[in-house]
Amino acid sequence: MRFMKKIPVAFPDIGPKEKKYVLDALNLGWVSGIGPMVSKFEQAFASYVGTKHGLAVSSGAAALDVALLALGIGPGDEVLVPTFTFAATVNSIMHQGATPVFIDARQDDWNIDVAQIELHITKKTKAIIVVHIYGIPAAMSAILKLANKYHLYVVEDAAEAHGAKIGNRMVGSMGDIGCFSFFANKIITTGEGGICVTNNKKLDEKMRLLYTHGSNKSHGTIYYYHSAVGYNFRLSNIQAALGYAQLSRIKTFLAKRNQHEMWYRSLLSGVQGISFSPQPKGTTVVPWMHSIFIRHSSVSRDDIFGALKVAGIESRPFFYPLHLMPPYRAFAREEYPVSLLLSNGGLNLPSAVGLTKKDIERITSVIKHTLHGN
Ligand SMILES: *Cc1c(COP(=O)(O)O)cnc(C)c1O
Repeated sequence: MRFMKKIPVAFPDIGPKEKKYVLDALNLGWVSGIGPMVSKFEQAFASYVGTKHGLAVSSGAAALDVALLALGIGPGDEVLVPTFTFAATVNSIMHQGATPVFIDARQDDWNIDVAQIELHITKKTKAIIVVHIYGIPAAMSAILKLANKYHLYVVEDAAEAHGAKIGNRMVGSMGDIGCFSFFANKIITTGEGGICVTNNKKLDEKMRLLYTHGSNKSHGTIYYYHSAVGYNFRLSNIQAALGYAQLSRIKTFLAKRNQHEMWYRSLLSGVQGISFSPQPKGTTVVPWMHSIFIRHSSVSRDDIFGALKVAGIESRPFFYPLHLMPPYRAFAREEYPVSLLLSNGGLNLPSAVGLTKKDIERITSVIKHTLHGN
């Protein structure tokens, strides 16, 4: 068998612009969390998603942490959250000593089941964290209506959904605070990084205070004046330089990912046992990952995962439901059948701007062969 190059599940696209901006940052000595690229990147990203403010932070997890801190969520508060998500979403609730209230996913959009939200609201409920899972927009208008009715905050975890839209509004811009991640496998990257976007000036100011040691420059000649117990969640100017270059290319990135999704879909079309990610009406999904769901009488998701691995192709099973794992088990109150179903049958196929049609043909032919032996 001839040598086949390995296909990783994701890899970033770092071009000459990124290298130039990062080198400029280094040459100018702006290497830490203060510098011209930080505010440039913040403003450019906020304007991209259509919010007034943006605060660049050190990771997507830090973005969620600072968002919940700024909203004053703490012990005794309940926060509604899907169980079918990445752990960082619920960790932000745990970090504040608040109580996560898990809600199942729904099959229509793989996101928090809107029909179950109201059933889980109590006097203690303070917020909902909505995740736009795998780039699929959650049903924001229904969620915002409920939040309004019960006076709840809405935090959008848009870590996987840069550029996804409902109508012509970007996800991340509709709740009180939107949180994005710029980890290497996300739609744009700063290496490690994240951002909080909001239209609320007060919340932006609060986050801006907390994310840098609880100290800002509003105390005249008094240096080292701290008005809150803060953190260091800053993004460095080097990382912001990388992000600024990446953001300028996001349209091309999304166009490529959409093209790849179309290739995956057409090459696997009509293959029994495979379905693709939902595309809710009126939304623009961003294929952060190319997600398939396998339901077949004799071939399992793990069989396909294994066959791809043998062929040198990396893939990732869907998230394991959070309520089944040790740190969160105590908060499981019911069965979450849809999350479990998705978790057992879902597989994310390689996704990267640099994938070729040949790569996708190779990947899909392994899948077809595994399912139907031809
Ligand atoms: C990636 C991700 C995060 C965390 O981002 P980091 O930058 O890795 O901290 C949070 N939520 C979701 C849904 C994610 O996919």
